[in-house]
Amino acid sequence: MAFSSDLDSFNLWYHPLYTDGIHEEARFPRERYQMLLKRLEDSEQCQNIKLRLPESISRETLLLAHDSDYVDGFLSGTLSEKEMRRIGLTPWTPKMIERTLRLTGGAVEATIHAVNNGGVTGNMAGGTHHAHRDYGSGYCVFNDLAISALYAIENLSVNRVAILDLDVHQGDGTATILSDEERTRTISVHCATNFPFRKSVSDFDLSVEPLAGDEDYLKIVRDSLEICLDFEPDLVLYQAGVDGLETDDLGKLSVSREGMMKRNRYVFEIMLENRISTVVFMGGGYSKPIEHTLDAFYDLFTDAAEWNKRWK
Ligand SMILES: [Zn+2]
Repeated sequence: MAFSSDLDSFNLWYHPLYTDGIHEEARFPRERYQMLLKRLEDSEQCQNIKLRLPESISRETLLLAHDSDYVDGFLSGTLSEKEMRRIGLTPWTPKMIERTLRLTGGAVEATIHAVNNGGVTGNMAGGTHHAHRDYGSGYCVFNDLAISALYAIENLSVNRVAILDLDVHQGDGTATILSDEERTRTISVHCATNFPFRKSVSDFDLSVEPLAGDEDYLKIVRDSLEICLDFEPDLVLYQAGVDGLETDDLGKLSVSREGMMKRNRYVFEIMLENRISTVVFMGGGYSKPIEHTLDAFYDLFTDAAEWNKRWK
């Protein structure tokens, strides 16, 4: 099968550097991007997906959410050992720089497309919610959610942006970067006992008990959607991490593949009903074997394509 050439299809940003820009000896499961692309390519659903290649983000756009010392340190490859270890995508490779710029560029391009055309768009990486204003952490260099939200407000005349973060880990970096920004609402649903152990304060934090299972988890997800709609956002940035799966190596929830699909459908359905443009950020997923993570991401992006079709 071939990916769609129709711009009305679900626009999904992807670059080969999403995998190749991480050192092959890194602990991070870098192959997931390449493997997921192959799965999408081999499925009938690819007719509903238009694949887009991201440009690199500009330094100026990064500065919407980050300090210049940190941005310049990263761009010139002069971060300290300690700063790199905190990011965790080690061993370091110079390709990480272009990877990060393309990845963050993909997030912003997906945001622009969603604002201008409505519907659902996505980036097949990112959701880098642990990146703070002046340091990176937990596999996250720059915070694509905060950058995209501020870009939409500053450059696209968007009034209110909600960041709906359903990854099993708290969106701590997003919460601190946007803490004084009244035009955004940060909502994080996460497992109480997961990384980061020192939590930040989001506008709304909904914590889930470890091993909660589908029913309890989905109830809290529905609560988070109410909170999201109450804000009357013009745009929703959806961090759709699947590390809440029962097979995940880092998450501590026990959500099934079906539960994860239900979660995503709740989000897509309610955003369509209210005609709120939505950008999907991939987020975490560390199942062993990796196939379970791929299944859940495959469901996520094919469902996003399906719901995008219903918008038109
Ligand atoms: Zn996560």
